[in-house]
Amino acid sequence: MNPLARNEPGKTILAMGNDAIVRGGLEAGLGYFSTYPGTPASEIGEGFTALKQQFPHIHTEFSVNEHVAAHGAQGASWANVRSMVTMKHVGMNVASEVLHFAAYSGVRAGFVVVVGSDPGATSSTSEQDDRWYSLHTHLPILEPATIQEAKDFTIKAFELSEKYNLPVILNAPSKLCHNIGSLTLGSLPREVQKNGHFERNPTRYINLFGGSVANHRRAMESIDALEKDIPLVSLNREAPGTGKTGFISSSINYLYLMEALALLGIVDAPVLKIGITHPLNVKEISGFAGGLERIIIVEELEGFLEYQIKQLLYDTGIRTAIKGKQIFPRYGELDVDIIADVLSRELGLPLPEKMERALTISETLTTGIPPRQGAFCIGCPHRATLYSIVKATDRKVIFAGDIGCYTLSCLPPFRAFDWVTCMNCGVGIAQGMLQKIEGEKVIAYVGDSTFFHSGIPNVINAVQQHADLVLVILDNKWVAMTGHQPSPTTDVSIHGEKMNPVDIKGLLKSIGVKYIRSIDPFNIKASIAAVRDALRQEEGVRVIIAEQECALQFARRIKITPPEYTVFYQIERGRCQLCNECYVDLGCPAIRKDFNDDGHFYYIEETACLRCGACKDLCPNGAIVRTEIKLHPGTSRETEKVS
Ligand code: SF4
Ligand code: SF4
Repeated sequence: MNPLARNEPGKTILAMGNDAIVRGGLEAGLGYFSTYPGTPASEIGEGFTALKQQFPHIHTEFSVNEHVAAHGAQGASWANVRSMVTMKHVGMNVASEVLHFAAYSGVRAGFVVVVGSDPGATSSTSEQDDRWYSLHTHLPILEPATIQEAKDFTIKAFELSEKYNLPVILNAPSKLCHNIGSLTLGSLPREVQKNGHFERNPTRYINLFGGSVANHRRAMESIDALEKDIPLVSLNREAPGTGKTGFISSSINYLYLMEALALLGIVDAPVLKIGITHPLNVKEISGFAGGLERIIIVEELEGFLEYQIKQLLYDTGIRTAIKGKQIFPRYGELDVDIIADVLSRELGLPLPEKMERALTISETLTTGIPPRQGAFCIGCPHRATLYSIVKATDRKVIFAGDIGCYTLSCLPPFRAFDWVTCMNCGVGIAQGMLQKIEGEKVIAYVGDSTFFHSGIPNVINAVQQHADLVLVILDNKWVAMTGHQPSPTTDVSIHGEKMNPVDIKGLLKSIGVKYIRSIDPFNIKASIAAVRDALRQEEGVRVIIAEQECALQFARRIKITPPEYTVFYQIERGRCQLCNECYVDLGCPAIRKDFNDDGHFYYIEETACLRCGACKDLCPNGAIVRTEIKLHPGTSRETEKVS
């Protein structure tokens, strides 16, 4: 049994931070869950999906984007069913419009917005500090520090949402989302609100004719009421001390801080751990600051707490010195080492000898590790598509990159990416740029999920503005980069039901795209010809749809349903001219180099090869051969048509 489904209050299990948030939702009686997957928060959606059998009343969906997901959760809340929407930090940019209005119109049942942030940008193109959205939207924000708090704060967030009539944000950084620790279960509710009903409430839901001002006021009054109640909410914790320097921290940084203080031998420092970082309670903060000479605020990224605390203390007349972003970096992740190092300099304390030693050892180990470069998976259709694009263009075009697995094409051997910023930056930026440059060809990329996320309006605009570009839609049928959640082109739902995939071609036709071609990326010669043909045309937006399933999903599927043919690809050494097309220009990791008395040679590692056939198609010397062993009557993948 999935341990998250157990109704055994008091039992302690091992759980990831994201699992703890799922369990918090279950204990809170959640009825609606929506998300657009994004690291580090993707596993929350996976968690609810895996629990469908035990909790069939929870509607779980991977929405088309975060804006849609947030609206869905708002709708469920207005139907009086507790709802949760999750996203990664940059997803807040997409959902923020919904959340601004959600603050105005309020909730009926609890509405919780979980945001997985990514200090250090380990899996993102930005490390924006999304906590500022809570100030901008007037929504409370909770920052759990531990796995246990991730669950407990989730439950609290639902309670606060209902009590103060506001959606509540729960912020969890990647180190918390993905850490594993002990989690003590609470009880699952005996009864949950499975379905609700809508009650008309025009003064709240119709933000027109002065209604928006009245609702703005209501939102401000709600957040002010919560601010006064913060001590009763009991999410903040003060550890009194006798020292004259106090520390304030939140989230996982609080744990780092406590470890750093212990390392430096500081045992008497007053520490305020803040669990609800907006709003802050003036009495609580001034009470803590009152007798201190200095406060050091430890938080990742920007000085969100520092900004609020300085403002709040200024109004009370307390002039305790505040140090935050003057001494800590405003970018990147914090950890115990960084905090201890900064504090040792600030407080004039030596770093303990064992820590100096550990840092030296860690530095030595790091320098000894050979650098590894990201690469497409073996058999990935994107590799084959990129190979064809590079061969067809000789890189003499502008490459408009985008967000997805294909972002790896900025690396060797392809180096076919001129920018990547946010979702749909490829066609979006290109279509504007094309209005102001002449004589340049542009190839824009977009994955199927990114296209549906927010690409369609960009393509419509490009068509309407007659932008001359080639758009390559890399349709691998999954949201692969975040763990293979379904995309609108996937033919199966998260619950295994058959789906009707969206017809991309039909959609493109309906918005006025006249040139649409499909390619099988593994058919290299045809793909190169298709790219050249599309570039030759001068009729606005031309679209090539590269259709092949994600290699990892394909590999999983053939494990479940073994194919009826076994196919091998081998390099015939007698024919191979060592031209490097397969080994360097395609760069499939299943093609290996070895040495003998005559020098080096290439071979295909049979246990790694995924039999995509791309290398066979591109070898100019016919040195790569395909051998087919028929196990059962039927067809092999090579002859299968995906669409
Ligand atoms: S592409 Fe063909 S000839 Fe060139 S290195 Fe590979 S196997 Fe040898
Ligand atoms: S067939 Fe060739 S390109 Fe495809 S996975 Fe095997 S070695 Fe790599």
